[in-house]
Amino acid sequence: MKIKYYGVRGSIPTSPLPEEVQKKSVSFFIHILKNQDYKGLKLKDILKKMPFHLKSSYGGNTPCLYIKIKDEHLIFDAGSGIRQLGFELMKEEFGQGKGKARVFFSHTHWDHIQGFPFFIPFFIPGNQFEFYSCYPDIEERLRKQLNPQHFPISMEYMQSKKKFFTLKLEKPKKFGSFTINAMKQNHPGDSFAYRVEEDGKTFVYSTDVEYNEKNYDQLYKAIDFFKGADVITFDAQYTLMEALDKMDWGHSSAQMGIDIAHNSNIRKVVLFHYDPTNSDEKIAEMVKVGISYKNKLYPDSDMEIIPAYEGMVIEL
Ligand SMILES: [Zn+2]
Ligand SMILES: [Zn+2]
Repeated sequence: MKIKYYGVRGSIPTSPLPEEVQKKSVSFFIHILKNQDYKGLKLKDILKKMPFHLKSSYGGNTPCLYIKIKDEHLIFDAGSGIRQLGFELMKEEFGQGKGKARVFFSHTHWDHIQGFPFFIPFFIPGNQFEFYSCYPDIEERLRKQLNPQHFPISMEYMQSKKKFFTLKLEKPKKFGSFTINAMKQNHPGDSFAYRVEEDGKTFVYSTDVEYNEKNYDQLYKAIDFFKGADVITFDAQYTLMEALDKMDWGHSSAQMGIDIAHNSNIRKVVLFHYDPTNSDEKIAEMVKVGISYKNKLYPDSDMEIIPAYEGMVIEL
């Protein structure tokens, strides 16, 4: 399976302020001018060696992941990142009204549905979409978002075929060559983690979740549910200190993701759902802190900790 990230930011789409862009440009040049290793190198080779947060950006769009399994298209969440995915899918069969995709929702907070009316393939007659969640009323929730008081275009105007399904919790559902299982998570209004398995490979999507002393039973359950996955994409909205400060806000930290991954025997953690106030620099620092946390607590582990960024692709 191939996984591509289209939106990795939490809460609200976030673009850097003009002064942040300027600060970043200055840091970019200072880093090059001060670094002796770059002397005599071409710019493209310098760019290859530079830290990611100085030369690029993790991205400001809210959650959307795309998974391709053989010729099946799966979409997880319809945050603002889904808009870009729509443009790319339009170049394929979705542009001719021959596309079929399944869309899964972790939950229906704004940041996970706000891109829904901006996904062009929904408007092309002939395309077929199946929507899945653990809510019995996912269609109603999406229709409410398109209420004329909030948005000018109704769901009827989206001329693709749409069907809505409710998944049973912790009952793996088979779709051709892959299986999907969902688990309820602690988050205001609930959220759902997904475990996607195909041909011996397992991907876990677990965002918008908080574990604290009030729900440790759920933590053990999650460790069991995620067991043996190849990759977990996990809610790293906060630093550890912020997470302790913002108890019951419904989010986690890199450290929590690392602890879960270690106990579930998962070798790769993708940090995800960054707080809108987190600059690229701060995200890079959170990754560094996460890696040293892992090295201190689990020195023998070869776990990889990476930050999600828009356009990032993982193949399993
Ligand atoms: Zn969210
Ligand atoms: Zn949420």
